[in-house]
Amino acid sequence: MTGTLYVKGQSGYSAVAHGYDPRFDSVLPSAVARCVSSADVSAAVLFASTNAVPFTVRSGGHALSGCSTGAGLGIDTTPMSKVAVNSSTASATVGAGARLIDVYHGVSSLGFGTSGGHVRKRGHLRSGDGRRNRFPDPTMGSDL
Ligand SMILES: Cc1cc2nc3c(=O)[nH]c(=O)nc-3n(C[C@H](O)[C@H](O)[C@H](O)COP(=O)(O)OP(=O)(O)OC[C@H]3O[C@@H](n4cnc5c(N)ncnc54)[C@H](O)[C@@H]3O)c2cc1C
Repeated sequence: MTGTLYVKGQSGYSAVAHGYDPRFDSVLPSAVARCVSSADVSAAVLFASTNAVPFTVRSGGHALSGCSTGAGLGIDTTPMSKVAVNSSTASATVGAGARLIDVYHGVSSLGFGTSGGHVRKRGHLRSGDGRRNRFPDPTMGSDL
């Protein structure tokens, strides 16, 4: 893979192993694949499934249930945070690791907003409550 693999006990691991909530720190991954592309994600999933290693995907690491923290391989999409805005089609292509703040900034340049919330470091893909605090007004929003 092009990204970096952080193995438990080695340099850099503790900086990428934890999610947002320390309640879930009792179970940490054996290694974290910090993916920079979809090819990296594919390679990580293939490795885990070929070797019968459990894996967990993580973006913003804010899951309230701890479901992005687990033993085995952590697949972290954080570096895949690009938000590409196309003004001619009024659309945006959003990376799996983009945070809400990245998405807000990206789509606001088009005069759009998105539902989400107020915690800017959360991942954007799993937003669900549809709060409109970052919407231009008046406007209509849709969950991603
Ligand atoms: C302090 C706090 C404030 C919050 N405020 C809001 C709010 O204002 N509005 C709101 O809607 N929600 C809010 N939430 C809830 C939050 O949206 C959810 O917890 C959401 O799941 C966080 O997404 P994440 O990417 O940060 O989490 P993660 O923990 O990274 O991921 C959540 C789930 O998605 C899976 N996943 C992660 N990345 C991918 C991927 N690329 N492909 C497929 N699956 C993936 C993970 O495996 C996990 O099951 C809040 C949570 C916290 C802790």
